Amino acid sequence: MVDGKPLIAPPRQHVFASYRNVLLLVVASIVVMAVLGGLLVSEHVKAVEYDYLADHETLLVQRVTFLTQRLATAEPSERNSILQKIRSYLTEMEKIYGVLSTNGNHDTLLNLPIVGEDSAPLQISVQIKNFFQIAHKVLGLTPDQISLQQPDVAALIAGPEAGLMQALEKADELRTEQMDDYFYVLYGVLGLTAFFAIMMLGIANTLMLRPAMNYVMRAQQRLNELNQLKGDFLANMSHEIRTPMNGIFGMTELLRDSELNPRQHHYVKTLQNSADHLLGLINDILDFTKIGAGHMKLDPVRFDLRKTSEEVLELLSTRAREKNLELLLHYPPGTPHIIFADPGRIRQVLFNLIGNAIKFTDKGYVMLHIDLRHEGKELDCQWWLRARIEDTGIGIPEDKVHMLFEKFMQVESGSTRARQGTGLGLAISRDLVHLMDGTISVESKPGKGTTFTWEIPISEASEPEASISHIGVLEGRRILIVDDLEPNRYLFKETLTAAGAECLLAENVGEALSLLDYEDHCGRKIDALMTDYLMPNKNGLQL
Ligand code: ADP
Repeated sequence: MVDGKPLIAPPRQHVFASYRNVLLLVVASIVVMAVLGGLLVSEHVKAVEYDYLADHETLLVQRVTFLTQRLATAEPSERNSILQKIRSYLTEMEKIYGVLSTNGNHDTLLNLPIVGEDSAPLQISVQIKNFFQIAHKVLGLTPDQISLQQPDVAALIAGPEAGLMQALEKADELRTEQMDDYFYVLYGVLGLTAFFAIMMLGIANTLMLRPAMNYVMRAQQRLNELNQLKGDFLANMSHEIRTPMNGIFGMTELLRDSELNPRQHHYVKTLQNSADHLLGLINDILDFTKIGAGHMKLDPVRFDLRKTSEEVLELLSTRAREKNLELLLHYPPGTPHIIFADPGRIRQVLFNLIGNAIKFTDKGYVMLHIDLRHEGKELDCQWWLRARIEDTGIGIPEDKVHMLFEKFMQVESGSTRARQGTGLGLAISRDLVHLMDGTISVESKPGKGTTFTWEIPISEASEPEASISHIGVLEGRRILIVDDLEPNRYLFKETLTAAGAECLLAENVGEALSLLDYEDHCGRKIDALMTDYLMPNKNGLQL
């Protein structure tokens, strides 16, 4: 809406009303079609039933005639069984006749009103009733009265020949013709109704759907233009804001290095921190709008992933050092270094997640694990890069984990404010990972720590030549590693073992000294000692 008016004029009200009426007509047509369809199906079923019964009746007439003929020439001993068969066929015929002529208004065998001049079926009823009468008379004869010359027997045998069969066939034909005409009418009405419904739909389409579609398309286009405009505006603004920010940074730096009393120094430090925070905020907003407007494009090149990971850790090491945190990289020996991907976007995601890990960890360590897996699942993506950022920080409550990647989401406004942040870092990281066709997830235990894991497909990865030459350079050497932090001991051991060394591990100076004593006692030599400096009780130098 601009000044209370919509950005694009919607279609007029009367268009909606006409559309509703047309739709009602379409619905009415569909109802008529459904009724006609039901009627057609039931009529078809009836027609098939009648056809079957009429055919059966004809067959029975033939059988009765044939049996009467046999009866006249049969031995007296056979006559009883033949008479029984004729009786049962006759009963069946009378039953069928009853069904075929249930409708008293129509005196036809096939239960259809016969119109026109040809009233043959009307004759059928007379003929067939006549047939039944004679047949009953024959059934009433004594065995010695039965002969071909007996008038009833002769009439029963001659009946079908005399026209009953032709009449039956003619009636069947007539009925089929009438049914065909009847079905033509029904199908015609159905077709007309369908045509009408389609016409109405066509009208509805021209009347309403097309204007509505046009409206939606125009609205979509306008929305895209506005989004573009918004993105451009934000990009320009962010750029414009960044220029004076550089001035603020430069001047603050100069001011900090000038002669200041402690209070002024404190003010300048606060000023610098605020400027830092403001710049982070502007960068986040710019990135977020760029991704939202679809302006963020990937720029994949071949680069050294290990070096990039080390650079990110190096950049963040000051922050970690200020909080006495160990910042570790676990890049397993033998893992390829050179990959084909967008280093800028990978660096950005690592920077966001490791930055957060440091921000939300007060003691312990933050460790980046890199893992490159080879998989032949997808045609041109045989490699998967998985990065895990593990910290021993404050963790995230279970009920907040699911909304963590939403923009402006901050778990606890109090603590977050104390730690600063825009609430956009994770949303940006998620969008960047999605842009690289990957997935991101989080696992956390409040008070214990958090692990963010993201994974993206990589089309190429290759082993660095330098790492191959490390293999075996420490073959046969024994090294004692002393560090109070377990992940550190594990990392050193993994690297040195890959180079061929045998490693002994100690958690503190006391444990290292007893190990040295023991090895000496057993007559085994230690070639080198690798020790941490800051450890509880005694430090590395004292050792
Ligand atoms: P912010 O700028 O506030 O860091 P993010 O989107 O990066 O915004 O993070 C959103 C919220 O998720 C943070 O405010 C914090 O509450 C929580 N969070 C992110 N990373 C961690 C972590 N490693 N440990 C604990 N909480 C975290």
